[in-house]
Amino acid sequence: APSGHAGLLAGLDADQAHAAAKVDGPLIVAAGPGSGKTRMLTHRLAHLILECGEPAEACLAITFTRRTAEELRERLATLIPAGAGECAIHTFHSLGLAFLHAEGPAAGLTADFRIADERERATALAADLDVSHARAMRLLKTVSLLKRTGAPPADEESAAALAASRRLGQAGKWVDFDDLVVLPVEILESAPAVAARWRQRFRHICIDEFQDVDARQYRLLQLLSPSAASICAIGDPNQAIYGFRGADAACFARFGQDFPGARTLRLGRNYRSTGCIVSAAAQVIGDGTPDDITRPMREPLTLHAAADERAEAEFVATTIESLLGGHDMLAAGRKGAAHDGDRPLGFADFAVLYRTDAQAAALRDALDRAGIPYKKSSPAPIAGQPLVAALLDALARQSAERRATALPARIVAAAEQLRPEQNAAGQATLAEARNWLGALATGTADETQLREQVALSTEADFWDARADRVSLLTMHAAKGLEFPVVFVVGVEDGLTPFSWGTADAAPADEGAAGEERRLFYVALTRARDRLFLTRARERAWRGQRRALPPSPFLRDIAPELLRVQDAPPRKARAEQQQYSLF
Ligand code: ATP
Ligand code: MG
Repeated sequence: APSGHAGLLAGLDADQAHAAAKVDGPLIVAAGPGSGKTRMLTHRLAHLILECGEPAEACLAITFTRRTAEELRERLATLIPAGAGECAIHTFHSLGLAFLHAEGPAAGLTADFRIADERERATALAADLDVSHARAMRLLKTVSLLKRTGAPPADEESAAALAASRRLGQAGKWVDFDDLVVLPVEILESAPAVAARWRQRFRHICIDEFQDVDARQYRLLQLLSPSAASICAIGDPNQAIYGFRGADAACFARFGQDFPGARTLRLGRNYRSTGCIVSAAAQVIGDGTPDDITRPMREPLTLHAAADERAEAEFVATTIESLLGGHDMLAAGRKGAAHDGDRPLGFADFAVLYRTDAQAAALRDALDRAGIPYKKSSPAPIAGQPLVAALLDALARQSAERRATALPARIVAAAEQLRPEQNAAGQATLAEARNWLGALATGTADETQLREQVALSTEADFWDARADRVSLLTMHAAKGLEFPVVFVVGVEDGLTPFSWGTADAAPADEGAAGEERRLFYVALTRARDRLFLTRARERAWRGQRRALPPSPFLRDIAPELLRVQDAPPRKARAEQQQYSLF
């Protein structure tokens, strides 16, 4: 009954509420950053269960990372009373894994299959094809792209690698990350009875960040959707940033054709950012400003030119110090802010975004020197995967009882190994490993589940949303997040946009240039109240110190939206730490 849940759609504006309540057919919600897409998705699920009376298990939500799946689950729990059941909230990969556990054995997959990490697969492939480990790693990237896009191999070596990886997986009873989507698609396409059963399972499907879906994931979605599906694709084509990994924003257009009667709704109101931030970002992406900026213009963006990467990092640290404890005055006028304007800023309100993980070294040192705590997204391949896998291999031969007692000692031993590195990524990884292994010790997870959780993690998962620390994130890992104060560092031609040093790694097409621009757009639009862009006039770059010109993207921002600060050149650099990128 609608009564009693009147508050459900009340937290949405009229357009958002319309989209949340439109559950009678295929729907595309295409809208800009900060327009409340993710908020709408949460309320849509609650609406389906509480007001439409749909069983929670019949509702499937797909998010981009495990972390966002977890957040969605938590937010939903605050909207839905206990006992309302649990929605299926998944990433594509966790959905595929659940599918393979249910259907894999029937399709010839052994019941005790596991997910192998990249290093293990590279070692097996190198031995099988008689190539170097480095060559095998590159071939695995090609294999991954072929699997995600469904494209035929371009040459004999890639074809051999593709065939070998499948053969080795079958022999070793393992699957790789991409198989978690590829194999369910194959099973659904070849087993009509299985497909019919799964098509009845989910009556409502919502997918967030739809612009970064790849061809295989899209196919899985099609195969799982009942014919009269209420399927809702939510995203922003301007934020498509995973083309290099095979994602295809054209899925938006295909959706309109493949799901007959699909309607498109837009959300035109930006709730997240100040007017200056919204306007500057719109100029960068060249797609006009949203219909409605809900917040005042406030202060322009700051563009700070530092002498070098060390000075750039120092600027970030000193700016954080000077703003810390200061009152969040700019938050005034932000709808939904808990205490408009009078909440002191804390560490977790700051994020520093960069294009490549190598840029984090200088930032970490500067923050360490200033005593500012931080948390960092982990580079791929995930450092924690081999670590936890080793701990588990290790433990696998012991009895459950022995494991519970041996575990703390193993974790301490692992911490000892990490200490010399003195780095935040190692510590974050270890903290994550401790959580995982703790679940094993207390019996809330079994070993298989744990290995799977580790294997399903991506870079954005190694970042603790709750810790009161400054966030150091790659632009990719920052997707979907928001912070009152954001620094985008390295706004130079070569880093933003990134230029590839070797022909081998260079993306083939011009599309990559557009993707770099969209990535910068994603970075800018993470900021709610204050946005600092920084660049180094000179930095260590591919083995030598080089002056990199400012990012060409800056030219698209109107001068009145940018306050330029030029720091004086630095003298005497001789004994200073040097940071080298690539
Ligand atoms: P992105 O494209 O970056 O993922 P999004 O469209 O998913 O952005 P949300 O993260 O859902 O946007 O919302 C952005 C911010 O605006 C959040 O802080 C959210 O709580 C707030 N917001 C969204 N809609 C409203 C609303 N109707 N009233 C008040 N605040 C809102
Ligand atoms: Mg979102």
